[in-house]
Amino acid sequence: MPIITIEQAGQYDGQEVTLRGWLYNQRESGKLLFPIFRDGTGIMQGVCSLKEQPAAFEALRGLTQESSVIVTGKIRAEQRAPGGFEIGVSAVEVLQRVSESQPYPIQLKEHGVDFLLNQRHLWIRSPRQAAILRIRAEAIRAAREFMDGQGYTLTDAPIFTPAACEGTTTLFEVQYIDDEKAYLTQSGQLYVEATAMALGKVYAFGPTFRAEKSKTRRHLTEFWMLEPEAAYADLGDMMELGEGLVSHVVQSVLKNRTRELEALKRDTTKLATVKAPFPRISYDEAIAVLQKSGNPAKHGDDFGGDEETILSSQYDRPLIVHRYPAAIKAFYMQPDPQRPDLALGFDMLAPEGYGEIIGGGQRIHDYDLLVKRLREHNLPEESFQWYLDLRRYGSVPHAGFGLGLERTVAWICGTEHIREVIPFPRMIYRVYP
Ligand code: ATP
Ligand code: MN
Repeated sequence: MPIITIEQAGQYDGQEVTLRGWLYNQRESGKLLFPIFRDGTGIMQGVCSLKEQPAAFEALRGLTQESSVIVTGKIRAEQRAPGGFEIGVSAVEVLQRVSESQPYPIQLKEHGVDFLLNQRHLWIRSPRQAAILRIRAEAIRAAREFMDGQGYTLTDAPIFTPAACEGTTTLFEVQYIDDEKAYLTQSGQLYVEATAMALGKVYAFGPTFRAEKSKTRRHLTEFWMLEPEAAYADLGDMMELGEGLVSHVVQSVLKNRTRELEALKRDTTKLATVKAPFPRISYDEAIAVLQKSGNPAKHGDDFGGDEETILSSQYDRPLIVHRYPAAIKAFYMQPDPQRPDLALGFDMLAPEGYGEIIGGGQRIHDYDLLVKRLREHNLPEESFQWYLDLRRYGSVPHAGFGLGLERTVAWICGTEHIREVIPFPRMIYRVYP
């Protein structure tokens, strides 16, 4: 008897197979049972009759939700069943029966989100959450495939760091060995700048940490970033790499995770158009667009969620905004030679109000300018000596960016909040479970 997954059922039409999973739900109708099984790859409806399969019927009757089961039966095409196939159950082995006195806490009804977040270790079993996590995995796979294909080498950055790189307000301090202090990384960027000078084109992909104290739909305190960095590269190179990367990720999910997008009822026509090149406007043009729409933004302001939504809603694919005022950007941004008050940086804003998914640009390569900026930002120069070495020894123009994985996946999935797209979200008031 072949052991198969629900995802593979279509290849076994008319054959007797074994599925290993859990009882997701069951409808009982006299001498017929209609169980629904899940196995992590999908859900499948079954049919079991008392007359034909009395032993299997007895095993299933009254079986509690989420009990673990191994089921044998014949796969057959059934138009009305989810996935297009059902299983005619002939044998059932119950591995662990969930007790009636302590039933599975998540019923098949609407629950409040706080309750579900407290049950996150179980909530991820629900078909919608599992679909989201499969899409996340595909997005990661596709992103790495793209970066590797472009000749970028994976060089991961450390998580314990000696200093801040994105401003001190969101730093997590940890006690390191003895009395030494360290900080959880806010970005791997400074380190990929070093590996870029060693290997040319590199990227890091890992968790980053920011003590975000505001409660929004798009901020986690622990999130994953993909950070490419390239020697001898400029702003234009990175805008092009970013749009290629995002197009490839979206198109791969559309192609390889069709069922999951369907399960989420995602309007995929809104994703199908996501192909490079993306529209590009300057910060100054963005301010003009905002003012025309009645938004009070003026030159020098940073954009919040509202501004990003107004800007991106004019397009059917992500929007690139470039050349922000240097004053509102990080210390390492290279100034525009034509307008030194502007930084050679860019943000990529996702459509449908999902906000910034990429931030990046060209880095300062001049030693003196970088030292000046460190001082202006009151950053501890001693901690940055190694970073300054990159400008002492063979400095070259270089550029990179950070793509926020969860922002990107939330947009692709169309979820209301970013917390659903990471297995165990960490937020302002949540570190459990
Ligand atoms: P924002 O202004 O939207 O908070 P940022 O400009 O501080 O973001 P960057 O430092 O540019 O963010 O980080 C690069 C990318 O990482 C962002 O474009 C975004 O996709 C993602 N990101 C940043 N902060 C968070 C967070 N707290 N939770 C999830 N993703 C984040
Ligand atoms: Mn940014």
